[in-house]
Amino acid sequence: MSCYQVTINEDSNQTNDAKSYIGGVPTLPNDISIPCCKLCSAEMTFFLQIAFPTQHKWNGYTLALFCCTSCVDEKYFIPEMLTGRISKAIIPEGFLDEYQRNFSVIVFDTSEGIIKDCYVPKVKYKHLDLLSSIEPKEIKFKVGGTPRWYLGDETPSRYGDSSEMNFLMQIPGDFEFEILPDAPKQVKLGLGKKVTTLNRPFYRLFLANNIYFLELARICQKYISLLKYKITVWGQLLEDLKVDLQHFNVEGILLW
Ligand SMILES: [Zn+2]
Repeated sequence: MSCYQVTINEDSNQTNDAKSYIGGVPTLPNDISIPCCKLCSAEMTFFLQIAFPTQHKWNGYTLALFCCTSCVDEKYFIPEMLTGRISKAIIPEGFLDEYQRNFSVIVFDTSEGIIKDCYVPKVKYKHLDLLSSIEPKEIKFKVGGTPRWYLGDETPSRYGDSSEMNFLMQIPGDFEFEILPDAPKQVKLGLGKKVTTLNRPFYRLFLANNIYFLELARICQKYISLLKYKITVWGQLLEDLKVDLQHFNVEGILLW
């Protein structure tokens, strides 16, 4: 699949037609709210969204990433991982049922996105450009192409009895999400497991681990084909469609 290098425009302002960006205010379908943390109930922080480009097989969809910056739990510093070897691992069926606790990945039809004015931004807005690339090894922030692993290939084998995992995109772990001057600082566990704040002008995701977004082929194909079928054949069943799409949002992505 074609590879796109993600580049950041440091001095940009959010516009109504922006589709791929860091921070600012998210764009979501009308019936999807800003997610809340299942550990502390606080509204999550919006980090970024990517509208998949033309040559990407998820073209037409946008992925938005939210994460809680209000609480910290040593069990969930990073997305839940398997114990033991993770390269070629078989992820047990049900592993993703409660997976998104203090983070949320929402995938939606790009054409349905509207700016969520109710959200108070914490991360500084920066426009993202997706530049078609021949994929040199040093690209760390990318959409499509192949994952850049640091300690050897860690691609899991499959989820339950599904076919395979496919790479969607990758965010470098050391990425600093610059915060606005009045945004609350990110929390951490200090000495004696006391919750304290990090005195720095940015947020980080998942203890600065690299983040790989993998699709679950079985679920995605099922729901995307269902989506297309209903649009073309049963246009009146839009309510069902929304339910299916949300299901797809929750279970269709693995962060690795
Ligand atoms: Zn929380």
